[in-house]
Amino acid sequence: MITLLPGREKSLLRLHPWVFSGAIDKVTGNPKLGETVKILDSKGNFLAWAAYSPHSQIRARIWSFNENEKIDKKFFTNRIERATLAVAPYNANAYRVANAENDFLPGCVIDYYAGYLSVQLLSAGWEIHRQTLVECLKEFFPDCKGIIERSDSDVRIKEGLEPLSQILAGDVPEEPVAIEENGLKILVDLRKGHKTGYYLDQRNSRKRIGELAGGKNVLNCFCYTGGFGLFAAAGGAKSVRQVDVSSPALELAKRNAELNNLTTPIDYIEADVFAYLRKCRDKGETFDLIILDPPKFAESVSQVEKAAKGYKDINLLAIKLLAPGGMLATFSCSGHISPELFQKIVADAALDAKRPLRILESFRQAQDHPVLSSFPEGMYLKGLLAAM
Ligand code: SAH
Repeated sequence: MITLLPGREKSLLRLHPWVFSGAIDKVTGNPKLGETVKILDSKGNFLAWAAYSPHSQIRARIWSFNENEKIDKKFFTNRIERATLAVAPYNANAYRVANAENDFLPGCVIDYYAGYLSVQLLSAGWEIHRQTLVECLKEFFPDCKGIIERSDSDVRIKEGLEPLSQILAGDVPEEPVAIEENGLKILVDLRKGHKTGYYLDQRNSRKRIGELAGGKNVLNCFCYTGGFGLFAAAGGAKSVRQVDVSSPALELAKRNAELNNLTTPIDYIEADVFAYLRKCRDKGETFDLIILDPPKFAESVSQVEKAAKGYKDINLLAIKLLAPGGMLATFSCSGHISPELFQKIVADAALDAKRPLRILESFRQAQDHPVLSSFPEGMYLKGLLAAM
């Protein structure tokens, strides 16, 4: 049982799903890591059921605000059902089944990739409920050939948990599996790819880039397995240059281009984007469409300032590389950088480059990555399409 300090019940009354360590008055009953605990306000009134995480700043994650609810198989079945119903209309063979807090499943990400499930369990509660979740998933996805857990993320260290990767059910191939995304086949390495294997959140933005790329020379920075560059090539780009620091990612990008019989000339550059953009600048190169989709630069609030400098740096360099009439599609997946701040960073970069930009469109994460209304942190991915 956890009793909160006076006044610290407010965020829970607004249905925010986290209890921070600083809000806690006392913990009674010596709960174990991940155990379900009752959260009470300072007067002893019930607030929520939560998973206890003794080592994390987020000391408890709410399972339910309903006192009568039991955190058991039926509970998880209902939550998975609710999550899958929301994605059903998208009818793709690769989609996010559950988006953690935003689908009422704190710390749990589940992605479906062409007959396989890839799961990340990043918070303590799942150490107790992992097997129940697997049973629920087998019932919801009876044709699923294998479930892999890709909890090999440093986020778990904050929870006092070891990063971990394991097969939870059936089997998952060593070779990448092919998914379909808006008419293209994309290979996803379930065992060794980033996160759960692929960045499904950028599906809509990749499609849009395909629509815009016709006849253009495209520079795709932080390309991972090809993503934006593949859609640009399929959309009739004149040339595509794919840049990433990871050679396995670039290998897969090449295989993806072959798999889709793309005839556009595509170059693959293994390089650090910060350095590579400078190299292009020094050579006087220009591009008609530049995509910047970097990894998360700000892991915490304390890193926002440094992250902002990084975003400004690459955006400034990219803006200078735009050919007359060129376009920039620029993204940030740092939850701690708000859309307003991101726009300001891009605007500052344009100002420093002495090239004011016209913002044409904004991007966000795809629909199968919902944002819970009581959890604004869920809105992490934002992007802007700008023209000179
Ligand atoms: N746009 C991709 C996803 C990008 S994820 C898609 O649509 O699928 C971010 C990528 O940036 C990763 O592939 C990672 O290897 C790469 N990366 C991280 N830091 C980098 C750096 N400094 N230079 C180049 N690539 C980097």
